[in-house]
Amino acid sequence: MTNKELADLIFPNVDKTIEDYEKIYKNRELKEGTMVTRFAPSPTGFVHIGNTLQALTDYLLSRNSGGIFFLRNEDTDTKREVNEAMDKIMDTLDYLGFTPDEYQYKEDIVGEYGPYIQSKRKEIYHAFIKHLIEIDRAYPCFCTSEELDEMRKKQEAKKLQPGYYGAWAKCRDLTNEEKAERIKNGDAFVIRFKSMGNPNRKIEYHDLVTGIIEFPENNNDMVIMKSGDLLPTYHFAHVVDDHLMKTTHVIRGQEWLPSVPLHLEMFNAFGFEPPKYIHNSLLLKQDGNSRRKISKRKDPEALMDYYIEKGYPSVSVIESLMTILNSNYEEWRDANPDKSYLEFEFNPSKVGTTGALYDLEKLDNISKNIISKMTKDQVYELLVKYTEKYDKDFYDIITKDENYTKEILNIEREQEKPRKDFACMSDVKNSIWYMFDELYSPENYEWMKITDIDEIKNIANTYLNEYYNQDDDKDTWFNKVKELTDSLGYCSNMKEYKVNPDAYKGNVADISTVLRVALTSKSQTPDLYCIMKLLGKERMEMRINNL
Ligand code: GLU
Repeated sequence: MTNKELADLIFPNVDKTIEDYEKIYKNRELKEGTMVTRFAPSPTGFVHIGNTLQALTDYLLSRNSGGIFFLRNEDTDTKREVNEAMDKIMDTLDYLGFTPDEYQYKEDIVGEYGPYIQSKRKEIYHAFIKHLIEIDRAYPCFCTSEELDEMRKKQEAKKLQPGYYGAWAKCRDLTNEEKAERIKNGDAFVIRFKSMGNPNRKIEYHDLVTGIIEFPENNNDMVIMKSGDLLPTYHFAHVVDDHLMKTTHVIRGQEWLPSVPLHLEMFNAFGFEPPKYIHNSLLLKQDGNSRRKISKRKDPEALMDYYIEKGYPSVSVIESLMTILNSNYEEWRDANPDKSYLEFEFNPSKVGTTGALYDLEKLDNISKNIISKMTKDQVYELLVKYTEKYDKDFYDIITKDENYTKEILNIEREQEKPRKDFACMSDVKNSIWYMFDELYSPENYEWMKITDIDEIKNIANTYLNEYYNQDDDKDTWFNKVKELTDSLGYCSNMKEYKVNPDAYKGNVADISTVLRVALTSKSQTPDLYCIMKLLGKERMEMRINNL
């Protein structure tokens, strides 16, 4: 029995050949140096921060070179598939602003290299597998999982390389007749790639990040098509897809680095040129004195939902990942504070090869800085979008008087050294709640030096009735606070006060604090002059009367 006959027996309905597909998936007419990248997540129901690092690299490389960035849904592991997982991926890309040039989602197929969902490409994979059987580079394997378990145990006991190779590869040497008989008999089988590698020989592989790496050749006959659903495994599917979809650069996690020899061998078996690979470093978390892989079970920040639900601007997450992606990014950012990260030219040789520390404190600092530079309108827009979804009560309050909210957000903003107090939108309510009557119910007045309530009431009432004027400019306002200070036996001149503290009841800072706490209940707030102006005399009166 010829290989062709065996291949026909296994795939009787596959009538297209590799050549047919080559004609359908034409070369992309792109200029030299243009990169075609893809984000190829498995729809697991969550997007890991490590996936975002990959998608960011993909997006950046494609934008850097005027190329294509496409999305491919790698759903061949149906056991792991979760409903609505695709929504999550699309929402996350939308949040990040990484709009794919080509993708498939619900009814939409955008791009000419689809389907972009692997489970819808089954017949394509079958044509490619059929070809491998015809050229004797793939074969059906009938070993049961019990047999494979037993094999694994024996290999472990003898401390041998695990896998299906050499004498362990029982089905490799069955004759075509034997294979056909078992197939006709209805025996379940998978298809394995027939490796020609010898681990005593080395392959040299040029990695864009690390340079030349030497690997022992692969000799493991890996499964390329599963029994049951007849879908391919990742190893095989990516070879076919990245070839047909003309991917130039595959950016993926470091966990795939050991599979490079197998992947190169498969590209070789077809005579296809492999894409270039970039393996991103693992993201690590500091845990006491040691570092460990950031884990979706232990660390909420491992998943993108964390950032979305907390209301981090996506650019903050992107900036923090950029510092991990290329070691020279921070230097570039300092020199180019106003440029978009997309103008940074990615350099693969500056990608870390060991794990990179992913640090939430650093993210918060980056984010505070970014938000502080936004205009009040930008912050308002972000806040509205966020609260509409995650805090509807607050949304109703802040949108009731848009200008009032914007002016609150504008306190110590749009100036040379803006205030850096929000890292994410869920921080905002905690910082400005006291500006809204609906939220103002002080449970805890943070009085400092002056705690006597009669004295407090006296200071606040005297100020309101005798000094405060809504139209005062900032200097006049401050002079009046000083006048109030002196008139009540406190000292408005800090130098004098320091020389002779016993001569006074306290100083101007104590008086300001009383006014601040009386109006907001907080001892620390942004600029008090602005707060008073925004609250307005009527509201101030109400709050002071309630003391
Ligand atoms: N589906 C694979 C994963 O999620 C993708 C790896 C790749 O990008 O090639 O790990």
